[in-house]
Amino acid sequence: MSHPHPELSTPPPLPKGGLRVIPLGGLGEVGRNMTVFEYDGRLLIVDCGVLFPEDHQPGVDLILPDFGPIRDRLDDVEALVLTHGHEDHIGATPYLLRERQDIPLVGSELTLALLDSKLREHRLRNTVHHKVKEGQRLILGPFELEFVAVNHSIPDALAIVIRTGTATVLHTGDFKMDQLPLDGRITDLRAFARVGEEGVDLFLTDSTNAETPGFTPAEKSITPVVDQVFRDSKQRIIVACFASHVHRVQQVLDAAVANNRKVAYVGRSMVRNMGIARDLGYLTVPGGTLVDAKELADLPPERQVLISTGSQGEPMSALSRIAQRSHNFVHIEEGDTVLLASSLIPGNENAVYRVINGLARWGANVVHKGNAHVHVSGHASAGELLYCYNIVQPRNVLPVHGEIRHMLANAELARATGVENVVVAEDGVVVDLVDGVATITGKVDVGLVFVDGTSVGDITEADLKDRRILGEEGFISAIVVVDSVSGKVSAGPEIHARGFAEDDAVFDAVKQPIIDAVNAALAEGNTDAYQLQQTIRRVVGRWVSGAHRRRPMIIPVVVEA
Ligand SMILES: [Zn+2]
Ligand SMILES: [Zn+2]
Repeated sequence: MSHPHPELSTPPPLPKGGLRVIPLGGLGEVGRNMTVFEYDGRLLIVDCGVLFPEDHQPGVDLILPDFGPIRDRLDDVEALVLTHGHEDHIGATPYLLRERQDIPLVGSELTLALLDSKLREHRLRNTVHHKVKEGQRLILGPFELEFVAVNHSIPDALAIVIRTGTATVLHTGDFKMDQLPLDGRITDLRAFARVGEEGVDLFLTDSTNAETPGFTPAEKSITPVVDQVFRDSKQRIIVACFASHVHRVQQVLDAAVANNRKVAYVGRSMVRNMGIARDLGYLTVPGGTLVDAKELADLPPERQVLISTGSQGEPMSALSRIAQRSHNFVHIEEGDTVLLASSLIPGNENAVYRVINGLARWGANVVHKGNAHVHVSGHASAGELLYCYNIVQPRNVLPVHGEIRHMLANAELARATGVENVVVAEDGVVVDLVDGVATITGKVDVGLVFVDGTSVGDITEADLKDRRILGEEGFISAIVVVDSVSGKVSAGPEIHARGFAEDDAVFDAVKQPIIDAVNAALAEGNTDAYQLQQTIRRVVGRWVSGAHRRRPMIIPVVVEA
């Protein structure tokens, strides 16, 4: 990853009593959060999340933080502390545990429950869990942890105080300061103040909304829109939101009950997460409200509510399929109302508008961020961050969780309140806290680690470039000369390609399979040129989609000699 310190090299050994911070992901991007703290030879990791790929990374399922810098030191890891259950904080944990399965996992009840279902999917059993609550303390090697309640767009989120023999660190995790949240669990500013009074040497703060002036509106402020949708709608209501947004789902459930409607979940992650949240008491579902989607379809439309995934236009999601009228049992009808109760994550605009247009084309009334107040952010805006700096009065600040512009805006806020030392660092930049002063002391090599199907880290940036080109404009031609007397391939295949790898050697892998397939077809008496060309097309097509995940134009040519 690029960062503004090309001159940096490997950091010097950490002085005794010093605390080292090594961000492996999440600083310079929104996603794959992972920060390593080192003290007295021991390591503590905070969060281990994923980043979702964008359009220019075809075939990539997930992007992980780079574990490279700690790979040789996994035995020094005291624990992995998880601030909350969002994918950008827990999603990479199974991949870390594949490298050392007994790293103790520390988190709140809901966070660990959401993580657990993920670990089971990866067949990771016998993992070590420490379930913690706000107010609780936990000693792990040289690190003394204290957990503080914070309010965010998922319940049970925690900020973390890390005390070593020489320093106190406060890490906000993702947070905002909704003063009237649905569950009444507010960010514990009294604890922030108490720890601040004791002296915070390093304060790591959520930068996501640092550019947004003022305060993030209350979650309850979207209630009027939800109520209006339920009041005005004469037919079915479909609500799409994030599958982890328990409080958003609670609002919809409450409105459904008040309006004598029944609710079904659509989408695997929605069904799973809301099941966990309900079992643990984070979601209250009045008896008889929830039915399965097929049962719901038997009710008159004015009694139906569907809560669905797909609010970001994800092509395989339930909502996208509903918009294309290709969903198994949800058939969008004229007069249905669709409420997209979520943010529009940059990069997803085209996909989301495609879904909105698709729904509107069938006559649905679509209520979304562009035409109604249907979403509030889960992150603190500038005003809330200023409050926090004034309450905590930290000696040093390290903005986290954001693109560089977010982190720079956050740094400005810290400076404006009088914080003397603000350090802006991106992934891989090492920050040492020594004698109460944080400074950048070096860098470690980190990159993007791509998960592609079952392979982790085998795909490189160069491979993705090939995929992009081949996928967008590439073609492959294969010319084979067949000897009509011997009934065998006598020359070729000669392969030409455009928009594929620079090096023609990549095609060596497919040459013999082409010869074998054509010879086999000839041996079966297949001499028709068109059919032989189809044989070549199949072999090349299978190979290129298997090895490169693309579908270029394939031009097979059979010449008889
Ligand atoms: Zn979050
Ligand atoms: Zn996050």
